[in-house]
Amino acid sequence: MHAFSFHNPCQIEFGAGQIAKLAQLIPAQARVLLLYGGGSIKHNGAYDQICSALKQHHWREFSGIEPNPEFETLMQAVQFARNEQLDYIVAVGGGSVIDGAKFVAAAVPHNGDCWLIIGNRTPLSTALPLAAVLTLPATGSESNFAAVISRRETNDKLSFKNPLVFPKLAILDPTLTYSLPARQVGNGIVDAFVHTTEQYLTYPNEARVQDRLAEGILQTLIEIGPITLAEPNNYDARANLMWAANQALYGMVGLGQPQDWASHAMGHELTILFGLDHARTLAIVLPALWRYRLQSKQAKLAQYGRRVWGLNGSDAQVANAAIDKTADFFQQMGLPTQLSAYSIDADEAANGVAAQLIRHQRLKLGEKQDLTPDDCRAILITAA
Ligand code: NAP
Ligand code: FE
Repeated sequence: MHAFSFHNPCQIEFGAGQIAKLAQLIPAQARVLLLYGGGSIKHNGAYDQICSALKQHHWREFSGIEPNPEFETLMQAVQFARNEQLDYIVAVGGGSVIDGAKFVAAAVPHNGDCWLIIGNRTPLSTALPLAAVLTLPATGSESNFAAVISRRETNDKLSFKNPLVFPKLAILDPTLTYSLPARQVGNGIVDAFVHTTEQYLTYPNEARVQDRLAEGILQTLIEIGPITLAEPNNYDARANLMWAANQALYGMVGLGQPQDWASHAMGHELTILFGLDHARTLAIVLPALWRYRLQSKQAKLAQYGRRVWGLNGSDAQVANAAIDKTADFFQQMGLPTQLSAYSIDADEAANGVAAQLIRHQRLKLGEKQDLTPDDCRAILITAA
């Protein structure tokens, strides 16, 4: 296990009706900016509960943050917050709204070109405080310090990370997820699954607690996935999904571990080039990447196959069968694992992603930093 440092300052309030706590938890003198997306919060009860919780506060709202949040839209929110002198952000939605809110939190007090915040190309000295009300369990964004922002004009989908944008508070109410369409539930399950494997499925590293945390999250997702899809109002299934997705990217699984993240790097390029949902790119890339890296990942794939899927046999047999099981699971969750399902030409995708990775200087990916854009091209060709 490598050396590590860990601090997660986010206060989590979990359970039905927890939005009401915002009344006490947000400082009375705060001037609140409520950020949300296309309007789902008006149909699942979140908006009404927020209005009621904030009735003693000064607050204004900005809506229209799109999936894969856009820099241009977020800069309008920044301008609005500056004009209205707002100083506390409440983000209500999925990963896109919460990621977008992290950018706004950093950009409002920033002097200089805000685009440079993305990709960590400029230092930050402060950020507005942020509370996240989660309505889509998937990204873990509600209690981590990462954000992914897109700029369609320049074909960029890039992340930034800074402890200053850790949400101070995260409200996790599973009943807010009852209104999710099946497509977003499936996406959330697969995104949380791949967050876990990006940190776990590398090579044996004697990090036993982290490994078993990862295996527990993966087994939970496999167990509850079908129930969550079949029974939208099943509180226990939604609660376990919400907590599994949170824990997948809360910070503990990857402590002291080699980490991969190549599937996410390739997936971001597929989203910006072809408009696929984030998790749908991961379902295509991950099985193909594991097959391509079978030799270097075989020992960990075998551990995963035995412990998570209960498989028996030689390392090679179990590793291969574990990849098949994973791809089957993604398909069962409603996410295809081939580019052809979206009528995307594999050569076009492979060449496009490789060119984007070169332009973004992502030249050495994976836990051993040895996966080149040429390797990524070869991986995507096998996902035809
Ligand atoms: P999302 O893009 O936030 O939301 C997808 C759709 O779900 C939106 O149309 C949204 O509608 C709708 N929705 C949300 N909650 C709903 C509810 N309760 N009922 C009905 N509809 C609902 O999806 P996401 O998967 O959570 O986030 C994806 C983004 O997060 C991507 O940009 C990805 O790259 C990023 N990401 C971030 C991290 C991180 O650590 N920060 C990790 C992985 C991925 P409305 O707009 O109307 O609300
Ligand atoms: Fe993700």
